[in-house]
Amino acid sequence: MIRALVLLLILCTDLSCPELVAAELVGAAPVSRDDPEGAESSHRAISSAAGLAVVVTAHPLATDAAREMLKQGGDAVDALVAAQTVLAVVEPQSSGLGGGGFLLHWNARQQTLEVLDGREQAPSSSQPDDLLRSDGGPIPWREASSQLRAIGIPGTVALLWDAHQRFGRLPWDSTFQPAINLAREGFRPTPRLLRSISLAKRIGTGHSPGFDQLYRPGGERPSLDQVFRNPVLGDTLAQIARDGGPTFYDGVLAAQILNGIADLGSNEQAFQGWSSADLKNYSVIRRRPVCHPIQRWKLCTVPPPSGGGLAILQTLALLDATGVISNPRRPKAWQRFATALQWADADRSYWVNDPNDWPVPMQGLLAPQYLRGRAKAMLDQPYSLPGPGLPPGRSRYPFARTSPGIEQGTTHLSIVDRHGNMAVYTGSVETVFGSRHVVAGMVMNNQLTDFAFQPAIQGRPVANRRRAGKRPMSSMAPLIVFEQGQPVLAVGSPGGRTIPHFISRVLMASLLWGLTPEQSVAMPHLSIRGNGLVAERDSPIPWPFAWTELSGGEQEIRSQPLNSGIALLQLIQGRWHGVADPRREGTAIAIP
Ligand code: GLU
Repeated sequence: MIRALVLLLILCTDLSCPELVAAELVGAAPVSRDDPEGAESSHRAISSAAGLAVVVTAHPLATDAAREMLKQGGDAVDALVAAQTVLAVVEPQSSGLGGGGFLLHWNARQQTLEVLDGREQAPSSSQPDDLLRSDGGPIPWREASSQLRAIGIPGTVALLWDAHQRFGRLPWDSTFQPAINLAREGFRPTPRLLRSISLAKRIGTGHSPGFDQLYRPGGERPSLDQVFRNPVLGDTLAQIARDGGPTFYDGVLAAQILNGIADLGSNEQAFQGWSSADLKNYSVIRRRPVCHPIQRWKLCTVPPPSGGGLAILQTLALLDATGVISNPRRPKAWQRFATALQWADADRSYWVNDPNDWPVPMQGLLAPQYLRGRAKAMLDQPYSLPGPGLPPGRSRYPFARTSPGIEQGTTHLSIVDRHGNMAVYTGSVETVFGSRHVVAGMVMNNQLTDFAFQPAIQGRPVANRRRAGKRPMSSMAPLIVFEQGQPVLAVGSPGGRTIPHFISRVLMASLLWGLTPEQSVAMPHLSIRGNGLVAERDSPIPWPFAWTELSGGEQEIRSQPLNSGIALLQLIQGRWHGVADPRREGTAIAIP
């Protein structure tokens, strides 16, 4: 169900906000570390739906495919497989079989919550200094993002297979059918896909003739009426559908992938290649979610190697500990929020990395007395740039500090089925179209640029340094809120390092301010870069005051589009309400 601008105008009246900015196509923004993928939103219609079972994804065709699975009696996981495989075809700039992701899964019958970590992994040939030039400086990010050394062993297929083996109700191959059909028969692009193709072109596609053949046929930017087909991807999907997920890692398809990578490798001298063991040894890691109580709720999300979850939990805990200012019309409420984001970011960017490499002191970082100390320090010095804290049990800082890298090409979907099972999933190829390399029809990720490029600074190791077999730090953070032991809200978003900013803002609006799901998603975002504030420009619901008031005169502030892609589910009087972010092109659909 698409409710258009009218709804937003009504919401605006509620928030006493000024006139709504009209829908418009904004030209592609320059690529920079401060412009998450497609910071060039064009959408203003909000899609929402309510029912017993609800699907929210980033693309109408993926939402339809997921709904179809649920209608056939499928589990949330069947719907997830259908949605992610369709997204691989129709939203290849964001996620796909050549990428990775995190699933937060709620099993309603067993009342269990689990994280499946399908994050990409560095191949065995990886060296800590792979992304350094010969003079020791980091390779420029654009160049690094298109190298084969940026591609991690993909985890998406292993994640979908593992989840489906345990929770799927429909035959595995039937969940692939919608994607196979779309890849073979074709689909029309959305405006965002076309903008993403232009963006990829500007980052660089010269190294990948496969990309241009698929997405810029004839060397031209395609138009909205062009039908896109990817028959090779259709065959790859059909093979996985027939032979199961393991074929990707140790079967006919694995051999095809290794050949494809080896062929591309002949153009990149320093690339040491992938071995068959790199694929064979890849496995999904089942992790315990990290949870934290906030008022009457328990918030659960994914642990390291993602730092997004930790940042959200700390942000909400800091807000709670400093006394929530529960009026969105007061700039002070937002200033407090921005300061909490900043203090949480300082910890996640310092302490988080793959826990198989160095353990992350999660318990200490979420310990009540530690958070109370951080909250007090935050109130005492609201405008100074905070450093990481020393959690209980730590008496010194073992790592060098680094500045965060660039992260940009991701999708999020949230699904609840009629039994109450939930699949809350964020999938990614890293930047727009990942490395832009294409193997077996699949866009390959550049997720290994999420490692710190410099493994050590002045002799001190960097926590998130690159190493063979390691998974790079992420910001992805699918999250479920529980009340009295039962899920009442599920949320996630793309957005690179701003993911925790987006999700914390949604939680502040929904839980602490009590706004409706539509308001929570559509109201403006506030982010923090270094010591400066970034206020969302052209948000679906405008700021209820002049955004310049946010700085309180003390902090630098600028405004720019902040292109989240939130998929929110919220339980209201026994019915799930789903909302897709009007900043992108997603839809929400319910089964009554
Ligand atoms: N590579 C990022 C991460 O793992 C996600 C990028 C994005 O959200 O656009 O956190």
